[in-house]
Amino acid sequence: MQKSLEDIRKNVRVTLSSQDWELIDSAYEFAKAAHQGQKRRSGEDYIIHGIETAIILAQIGMGAKTISAGLLHDVPEDTPVTLAEIENKFGKEIAFLVNGITKLGKIKLRDKTEEMYVKNLRKLFLAMADDIRVIIIKLADRLHNMRTLQFNPRDKQIRIAKETLEIFSLIANRLGMGKIKSELEDLAFKYLDQENYAYSIRTRKEQYLRKKEYFEATLNELTKEFSREKVEILQISKRIKHPYSLFCKLKKRGMDIEKIYDFFAIRIIVPEISNCYEALGIVHRKYKPLVGRVKDYISLPKPNGYQSIHTTVFGPEGIIVEAQIRTKKMDEEAMFGIAAHWLHKNQEKKSILEKYLFPQKEEEKENKELRWVKQFSEWQSDIGADDQEFMCGLQVDFFKNHIFAFTPTGDFIELPEEATPVDFAYCIHSEIGRKICEAKADGKIVPLDYHIQNGQLMEIFTSDERVCPDKDWLKFVKTSTAKRHIRKFFKK
Ligand code: MN
Repeated sequence: MQKSLEDIRKNVRVTLSSQDWELIDSAYEFAKAAHQGQKRRSGEDYIIHGIETAIILAQIGMGAKTISAGLLHDVPEDTPVTLAEIENKFGKEIAFLVNGITKLGKIKLRDKTEEMYVKNLRKLFLAMADDIRVIIIKLADRLHNMRTLQFNPRDKQIRIAKETLEIFSLIANRLGMGKIKSELEDLAFKYLDQENYAYSIRTRKEQYLRKKEYFEATLNELTKEFSREKVEILQISKRIKHPYSLFCKLKKRGMDIEKIYDFFAIRIIVPEISNCYEALGIVHRKYKPLVGRVKDYISLPKPNGYQSIHTTVFGPEGIIVEAQIRTKKMDEEAMFGIAAHWLHKNQEKKSILEKYLFPQKEEEKENKELRWVKQFSEWQSDIGADDQEFMCGLQVDFFKNHIFAFTPTGDFIELPEEATPVDFAYCIHSEIGRKICEAKADGKIVPLDYHIQNGQLMEIFTSDERVCPDKDWLKFVKTSTAKRHIRKFFKK
């Protein structure tokens, strides 16, 4: 059935005012009129693509302006209607977002040469730094295009799927948008590696059927246990590992499905953080945990802000199940990532995700910048990092509150902000740390307490005459590695 405006209404996760709805309604009418008569390869009216994009944006909790921009996103590119007309009708902000998508659309990421590819990726990051909503709309647009990829010729399918897996799923992951990330991965996997995709789907189904009973028994037993112990649970649900991530893990574990400990997971959503630990206690009392498999991402969140407690336990009949325990808010952030920020923008308590992504105090404005994206693009233009460095950066889970310094051999060392040459030296080797006498950053001599800048090439000079570190270094070193080594030396 063709989707309509009503479906946007049904999927919206934030409270929108009647004014907001007027905006969305008029964006819908405007886009529909502009795309009048156009069809997609699927044979559907073109406006359906705009609606589907807007629905995804609504589902992840974006507001009226972003949803409207989602409806309008292909108008300037594919119809006679100009951006100026959009600006006239909907104002600067929406026109800016639509223009951002149009510009991104023109960037052919997978270009003929590696050089062009990298240049284009940079443009993408610069666009992200402008306004993160642009990339969120782009992700929604890409997700719908992936869902309808079967209508395209094979060569286009491959190009789009590759780009999705190599770039867009990484960005979704970096923005903490777990749900979009896994769907993008699975869809791309299906087009890029049909054989292994089929294998993964089959293995997944077989394992599920083999162990289903026990998996369900675990869920029921835990539910009972929680109610007996009077621990409030908001929701308890099952999840099975997605085909793409299952296949990646299978490859790592010698294709042995029994070694995939998180194949089955039970997700337990509780009201407060303290309940997470209570729930963990109950899970462990009921089922024996696997040693060393408890991961507390609440006190130590993943770099993309993900928070949850994971534990792997032996359930009924020895079935291995992972339990994922988190609050409602953490759960939403795990699914929608950065978008969940807008969902919670009226709440007082800052989420961990916000602390991660917006470390500086800023006013509650919709178009906040992501500091790491900003840093990243600044770093590129300041340093003029060459393409290889750029690619390295991309692969290192992007940058955030960390800097990277390069060694003369092209390796890079990850350091906290304001790290010094002494930190850098100790990260290479404790001997080099102890014997450091001089340092150069990008070819210039710098003091030992210098703050290394992101992307700098560091050279460390050592002297055999230095037999012990300087106690004063403790006043400025930032890494625990350096601190530990220096202290250890003086204890002796
Ligand atoms: Mn589109």
